[in-house]
Amino acid sequence: MRGLDGTVALISGASSGIGRATATRFAEEGASVVVADIDAEGGEETISRIANDGGEATFVETDVTDQDDVASAVETAVDAYGGLDVAFNNAGIEGEQVGFGDQSNDNWERVVGINLSGVFYAMREEIPAMLESGGGGSIVNTASIAGILGFPNLSPYVASKHGVVGLTRSAAVEFAADGIRVNAVLPGVIDTPMVQRSGEADPESTEQTVAAIPADRLGEPEEIASTVAWLGSDDAAYVTGQPITVDGGYSVQ
Ligand code: NAD
Repeated sequence: MRGLDGTVALISGASSGIGRATATRFAEEGASVVVADIDAEGGEETISRIANDGGEATFVETDVTDQDDVASAVETAVDAYGGLDVAFNNAGIEGEQVGFGDQSNDNWERVVGINLSGVFYAMREEIPAMLESGGGGSIVNTASIAGILGFPNLSPYVASKHGVVGLTRSAAVEFAADGIRVNAVLPGVIDTPMVQRSGEADPESTEQTVAAIPADRLGEPEEIASTVAWLGSDDAAYVTGQPITVDGGYSVQ
């Protein structure tokens, strides 16, 4: 089978940005999509856009730091659509941008809790559901170029995204023989509400950021969605454990 037609996908952080673009792309390719996010209004908006385009999606209000919520989201995929083929663990926050010594415990715990523990809790529920189906599956975790590079004033974020790369590699090795592939997508700077927020706070910072990107522009959420769609499909059947950068060349200069 090629593409995502007939598959069941769970996508977290799909009320906005990269997650919404990916949910839309998956539905366009014929997947049934469970949209999981803490933001109910945005989640309803995502599923209504998908329904208007003739796609199939269900929203489940989910805080990825809550293990019961994560279990319910996986259960919804199984109950509503009969199983789980692809999971995109994408919910994340940037947290406060302050120097190392000024980072509060609260910020550390929030950022690591959502970006790293959230991915761990999700995989721990998703993998048994995929094993149960017997048909394998594909998990894609959202890391970042901050998963392979250091950035000032973002230490909890950078640590959490490095952790996502490590979790991805470990699970990939552990479940490869079961037909479950686990990869990470590492976006560069993508034009989503997350980046727009910091651009509004400091317009010069966006100009400086763009100047540092060889492609000379921000990425579009749809450009991450197309990579996740490929990783989710059998076209990437022999790709596992990989951190895939989608960054306009940022990380290779
Ligand atoms: P975004 O702010 O547009 O979307 C993030 C989504 O995550 C939101 O819908 C939000 O409600 C949801 N979310 C936050 N906390 C949650 C929680 N506890 N439980 C469930 N959902 C929660 O941002 P985005 O740019 O689309 O970011 C998506 C992912 O991409 C994040 O993991 C982010 O770190 C990563 N990323 C983004 C960029 C970028 O430049 N935009 C670059 C690298 C990595």
